[in-house]
Amino acid sequence: MTEADLIVCGAGPAGMAAALAAATRGQRVVLLDQAGRPGVKILISGGNRCNLTHDCAAAAIAKAFGRAGGRFLGHALRERGPRELRAWIESLGVATKVEPGGKVFPVSNRAVDVRDALERELERAGVRFHGGAAVTAIERVASDAAASGAAPFVVATARGRFAAPRVVLALGGRSYPKVGTKGDGYGFAAALGHTIVATTPALVPLVATSAWVRELSGVTLPDVVLSLPAADARREPPQRGALLFTHFGLSGPAPMNVGGAVARELAGGVSSVPLAIDFLPNEERAALDARFAAATSSGDARLVRTVVGGLLPRRVAEALCEQAAIAPTLPLRQLSAAARARLLDALFATKLALVGTRGFDFAEVTRGGVALEEVDPATLQSRVVPGLFLAGELLDLDGPIGGYNFTAAFATGALAGRSAAE
Ligand SMILES: Cc1cc2nc3c(=O)[nH]c(=O)nc-3n(C[C@H](O)[C@H](O)[C@H](O)COP(=O)(O)OP(=O)(O)OC[C@H]3O[C@@H](n4cnc5c(N)ncnc54)[C@H](O)[C@@H]3O)c2cc1C
Repeated sequence: MTEADLIVCGAGPAGMAAALAAATRGQRVVLLDQAGRPGVKILISGGNRCNLTHDCAAAAIAKAFGRAGGRFLGHALRERGPRELRAWIESLGVATKVEPGGKVFPVSNRAVDVRDALERELERAGVRFHGGAAVTAIERVASDAAASGAAPFVVATARGRFAAPRVVLALGGRSYPKVGTKGDGYGFAAALGHTIVATTPALVPLVATSAWVRELSGVTLPDVVLSLPAADARREPPQRGALLFTHFGLSGPAPMNVGGAVARELAGGVSSVPLAIDFLPNEERAALDARFAAATSSGDARLVRTVVGGLLPRRVAEALCEQAAIAPTLPLRQLSAAARARLLDALFATKLALVGTRGFDFAEVTRGGVALEEVDPATLQSRVVPGLFLAGELLDLDGPIGGYNFTAAFATGALAGRSAAE
């Protein structure tokens, strides 16, 4: 049995931040992961470039996690907000840059540089990392044993048993199980007495069976707005960004950002979820209507597909004409008022039935997890199990694409590690 002051389960951003926060405060820290090296998800993040954080104030990060999530994250973001996170990673030797839109990446565009810098820092701080140490059980030693001096937690792993008076649980969610994040942490948290809010995939591509969507496979649109007309618009605001048509449906930032809400609705038992697509967020519907009407009345001979093709890629323009039941080769002068209204509906509010998401296998994060009410946001200590601290994606927290999730993971990890060391 290896003894330590603190055992950190999971060497993702949350676990590494926790281990470092405690080790730099003089604690003997053991960091356990099923993978051979820390940071498996950092390596695959942001298209292997690692979108580390977002260039914004801490309050904007909190807001992106919704009302309950944002309130919960307040303390952690004061511990290490997006600006402190960026400065900290820079202090470890990784220069960073802000891309248009606010995403922060390493200047090198190499996620591995972030992982390697953190790994070096773990070594420098004296954290004892054990790779290949899949956690199989976390037990609390009975209180009489603890009173006699035995450490109250014993963590069993594929590489032996570890004991410590405090544990940080940072085993991540169940998204992308192929890298080893299969949701084990929920089982351990539940076995220790925590409530797990039902988990569904989030930041996940969307499945649609409509033939026109699949026929557009490979086409990317840089700027669309997606909304879920059936959802509460305050809780699920429209999402603006790029969209990629694929062989299964829709991918890219805007579709993935609505994925969590779609998965939740589908989990509720509906067979499909309606999605509305505004293909022209920079155009005013009334202004375009007036332009089309003027062209028709002036006898404009240009084809509808040519005019719409001036606004959108040709294949999309033709698909939307078909959605509006208008021949793409119709001259504008023959466009009736009713057809014009259908065309504008297609351009500004195409309805698409979503029948699924790509699930946890392709989700970037997990919605749901350890219930936030059971964790003290000021310390991240469990309100159920004294000595247990929880951080990262394991908690019922998920944010949008853009570096928000790493920011929350590093912030909660840093706070949990400091609290555990006090
Ligand atoms: C493809 C992809 C790209 C992403 N890109 C970005 C991005 O660019 N920016 C961003 O902000 N977010 C991104 N995310 C989300 C981000 O990776 C997570 O939000 C973040 O990693 C969560 O950190 P964590 O420390 O809580 O959990 P994780 O990073 O998941 O770490 C948990 C660790 O626990 C280990 N583990 C799990 N089970 C066990 C067990 N039983 N025993 C021992 N160890 C175990 C795992 O190996 C893992 O190392 C991406 C996610 C994916 C899947």
